[in-house]
Amino acid sequence: MTDCIFCKIIDGKIPAEIIFENEDVLAFRDIQSQAREHFLFIHKTHQKDLVEMVHENPDGLLQIMKAISEFSNKTKLKENGFRVVTNVGRNAGQSVFHTHFHVLSDNHLGKFGK
Ligand code: 5GP
Ligand code: ZN
Repeated sequence: MTDCIFCKIIDGKIPAEIIFENEDVLAFRDIQSQAREHFLFIHKTHQKDLVEMVHENPDGLLQIMKAISEFSNKTKLKENGFRVVTNVGRNAGQSVFHTHFHVLSDNHLGKFGK
């Protein structure tokens, strides 16, 4: 998708601090970190959100979860603990419409809410 920021990161047209990559999945640091560690895991194909992805690329979801798992095992993330979040729709705070999973890790993460 030509006007998608995350597709541009995949294509190397926008720089990002890449922390994980395989054939299907890319992960990079969030530009506006909300925790000590804040990464975004995305699939290399474009689907706008979790719901669209469940229909169009369910295998891709598992590929992303496997990538998160692999990355967490290779780094301190697993030991420290982490949270996985995906926002669906503007009311939930989604601002980039290419499915992404926030992976957050810190000494203490507050509970959910407004
Ligand atoms: P959302 O608000 O859609 O759940 O999450 C989008 C995330 O993408 C935000 O946390 C935002 O900081 C991050 N983001 C937006 N543009 C860029 C960018 O160009 N590079 C990086 N690394 N992160 C971005
Ligand atoms: Zn995209």
